[in-house]
Amino acid sequence: MTVSSSAALFVVPTPIGNMEDITYRAVHILKSVDIILAEDTRKSGVLLKHLNIRKPLQSYHTFNEQKVVPAIVERLEKGEKMALISDAGTPGISDPGYLLVRACLDRDIIVECLPGPTAFVPALVKSGLPGDSFVFEGFLPHKKGRNKKLEQLRLEHRTMIFYESPHRLMKTLRQFEEVFGKDRQASVSRELTKVYEETLNGTLGKLVETFENKKNKGEYVLVIAGHRRNKQSA
Ligand code: SAM
Repeated sequence: MTVSSSAALFVVPTPIGNMEDITYRAVHILKSVDIILAEDTRKSGVLLKHLNIRKPLQSYHTFNEQKVVPAIVERLEKGEKMALISDAGTPGISDPGYLLVRACLDRDIIVECLPGPTAFVPALVKSGLPGDSFVFEGFLPHKKGRNKKLEQLRLEHRTMIFYESPHRLMKTLRQFEEVFGKDRQASVSRELTKVYEETLNGTLGKLVETFENKKNKGEYVLVIAGHRRNKQSA
């Protein structure tokens, strides 16, 4: 099988938990390219083995991307076809990818991004909050700029989406309660597509109470109603 597209770089989403979420097209592209750029070659090696794909892997992650982009672009210009994958979900969404895509566009190298798994879409849909207009904030800054960012979002009228790790979940939920008010509607999704997948919807006050009494494990997406959508909120 060969790649029929004129693209040189393919951004390929991979499962966020459930291996069955890989698409036929993703498999086809991964089997067709000359080389796969992977955030963690060891982790991606497991997925590729599962899919029976044997291809040269090159490491492409946050800490080397500045350095490796020029050489990758040169090879793409010479006609090599490459796929970019991250540890899970869509590269470029709170994952490395943006710099390489930007560099390709600057050199008129055609980039294709396959639709596929990403954590924020199922979390937004399961939240029951308006999805016609939303803002994806990814991870909040851990220290510097955190309060300023939250203050900027205090009167945001669109639905807001955040990524969070288990050990910062409570700190973030409590800050959300402070900034947006205890009556603001919100949703917490964890372990999407995995065995222990769970989504809890309710007010921030209720969610803080619930998660204070739970063991917090796994990966989380937090979805918060926008300011004007809920009249009782701050
Ligand atoms: N590129 C990924 C995407 O498209 O969603 C995001 C990568 S980011 C480094 C990892 C974060 O995404 C996690 O900390 C969590 O907030 C969220 N995430 C990834 N997989 C998830 C899952 N199965 N359930 C809930 N959240 C998940």
